[in-house]
Amino acid sequence: MKFISTRNSSIQKNLSDGIQCGIAKDGGLFIPEKIPQIKLGEFNSEWSLDYFAEKLLRIYFEGDSLEKHLATICQKVFTFRVPLTEFNSNTFVLELFHGPTSSFKDFGARFLSECMTKLSVDYPVTILVATSGDTGSAVACAFYKKSHTNVIVLYPEGMISKRQEQQITCWDSNIIAFAVDGKFDDCQNLVKSAFKNNWWNERFNLNSANSINIGRLLPQITYYAQSSLKFYERYKKSAGYIIPTGNLGNATAAYFAKLMGFPIREIVLATNANKVLPDYLQTGDYQPRTSIETLANAMDVGNPSNLERLNYLFPAFELFKKNIRAFSVSDKNISDTIIKTYEQKKLIICPHTATAFFVRENLDSEPWIIVATADACKFNTIIEPLIKSQVSISPQLQILLEKPSQTRSVGNSLDDIKEHIPRSWIR
Ligand SMILES: *Cc1c(COP(=O)(O)O)cnc(C)c1O
Repeated sequence: MKFISTRNSSIQKNLSDGIQCGIAKDGGLFIPEKIPQIKLGEFNSEWSLDYFAEKLLRIYFEGDSLEKHLATICQKVFTFRVPLTEFNSNTFVLELFHGPTSSFKDFGARFLSECMTKLSVDYPVTILVATSGDTGSAVACAFYKKSHTNVIVLYPEGMISKRQEQQITCWDSNIIAFAVDGKFDDCQNLVKSAFKNNWWNERFNLNSANSINIGRLLPQITYYAQSSLKFYERYKKSAGYIIPTGNLGNATAAYFAKLMGFPIREIVLATNANKVLPDYLQTGDYQPRTSIETLANAMDVGNPSNLERLNYLFPAFELFKKNIRAFSVSDKNISDTIIKTYEQKKLIICPHTATAFFVRENLDSEPWIIVATADACKFNTIIEPLIKSQVSISPQLQILLEKPSQTRSVGNSLDDIKEHIPRSWIR
């Protein structure tokens, strides 16, 4: 299969090259030249997740040098459970947070890491990521002690939860994390300027692990495909999905699953107070903004990168509107929803997942699957005062909390960061 740039279909790459480039040279994002169509009868929802992933992703890996490794990659990545639970008679929850860093980002980061380490490189690669909370830990954990790869994580000092910070700063060896004196947008801008800077590019052999990378997107199709099929077989009806959204990476994977032919009735997106997408749907005029801080920090995005892929899939605005619905949820509604869900069912949800629960209440009585993107225990300082009860720590988080960690504060400049990077990482 060939992958093309969203901006120019004559820029074509195979999958490995798409993964290694991250972004197309015209600034577009890689997307399959055609969304493959499946027959439902070829898939069995009872298969283990790793086997399901292998069958599904083989379509995208066909003809690529990574194809021979796909089974091994899937066996290494899809090792944790993805429960689909019933909340009430027409509301279900897909739990994507049972990976080692307790957010859905473990799927994409681990898959990308396994792919990248199978690809040959002339000299070590440096992965540079900006994180508003969960990407940094997922990427650090996924690449920890992988050969020929170093990872630099930038996060905004004081703007992520203590437990999120611990999950980012508890690594050593080939991982280094910096608390940047600035906001998430500043971290993102530092990454962008590093990629544009020849010295950084050449001396570090930079690559990105943000959700613009096609290697992060593809594995995420798996859990939508399998859960939709499972639901359809169990209830003889197709479910809709409500997805907490920031950079639209997770949502784009859901659209892939739907367009491939898996039984997904509809996809609805929940944003926090950063509402460029709902506003765009309302006005038809896209206005990116600087992000504002909310309780759901991993969704604090003012210019969602994967919108470019959704625009490619649904090029006319009318078509876009027909396929995409999005609602913005305030911090007040997030807090109220966390309290209400706990009081009603003793279910403790994270602030991101809460946006989807809130949106659910305003939808019809058809079956909806709420996508739970992170484990509540990462956000104890937000949740515990609300529900006036303790959030128990998951075993995965406990392991990381017990590791020694080191916070490195740096100024908001590439030169300052460079000073703190081990000399051996620089060519
Ligand atoms: C990253 C993240 C999101 C947003 O996902 P996108 O793919 O960026 O839209 C939602 N919830 C949590 C917990 C996250 O870590």
